[in-house]
Amino acid sequence: MRIGIPRAFYYHSYPKLWEYFFQRLGHDPVVSSPSTQKTLETASAHTETENCLPQKLFDGHVISLIGRVDAIFVPRIISIVKKHNCCPRFGALYDATRAVIARDVPLISIEINETAQPLTKILYRLARATLGADRQTAKLAVKESFSVMENHHRAQADQQEKQPGQRKFLLLGHPYTLRDLFIADPIIKKLKQLNVPLELMTFGNYNIKPSGILWCVFNMMQHKLQNLDPRDYAGVIHISTFNCGADSMMAERFRRLCKQKNIPYMMLMMDEHTGKATVDTRLEVFVDSLSWQRTDVAI
Ligand code: SF4
Repeated sequence: MRIGIPRAFYYHSYPKLWEYFFQRLGHDPVVSSPSTQKTLETASAHTETENCLPQKLFDGHVISLIGRVDAIFVPRIISIVKKHNCCPRFGALYDATRAVIARDVPLISIEINETAQPLTKILYRLARATLGADRQTAKLAVKESFSVMENHHRAQADQQEKQPGQRKFLLLGHPYTLRDLFIADPIIKKLKQLNVPLELMTFGNYNIKPSGILWCVFNMMQHKLQNLDPRDYAGVIHISTFNCGADSMMAERFRRLCKQKNIPYMMLMMDEHTGKATVDTRLEVFVDSLSWQRTDVAI
């Protein structure tokens, strides 16, 4: 079976896991192409105008797979970290996709809720009950796909620029904003052009301590910021996307955390109309203002 995987949302939260899992079970995974302006244009006729930008991109990816595959994989995601919750959009993902984007398209789904049951068990059941794998193959597919994902997380962390003596800028955001070419690439390219050492926040350690924040990814961001050493970081750039209510609630908290550590923080809001010139100007001003502020430190 050709199984479509939209290159959005859970694709980036569980890098490489889905492709490997379906392939190991003898299926042919088809991942949609990286996001472009066209992905948004494709979505625009169908997606709700009030959706956040990543949701619109997700819808565009689903549409791009329709007709090319036998079924599309769209889980409901309640929690990717035990005792924490995801944004409600993730819980409604399957139903919203079915109702709005893919009415007559076969969808393969599971409910990911780490608080109730580990994903390994859910995937095993998917392999056995829905995809007809025998016990041994299902067990190996789950085990190996997790190991492939963990290796990928490690590789992403190792790829971070290491320039001893230079303070870095941290790019903060959700996995599906930081790893999405349409959203993050203009920012990354501009910062590289400005010769700024950069670190993209990486995910993978889901065993972090609980805090007052019950949203999975926001708790990870909070931990990351709490552990930043001002001697290593020149600034934090938080990539937010238009119409994300959760980001707007958390931004002030993140700003305060950075202020306590004396690390400059900037939130960069991306929407479908954000032009390259706007992004470039804001980044230039931010980076310039920091170099004036700390003439003793190369950034
Ligand atoms: S957290 Fe924000 S960006 Fe992510 S799905 Fe929810 S509303 Fe959209």
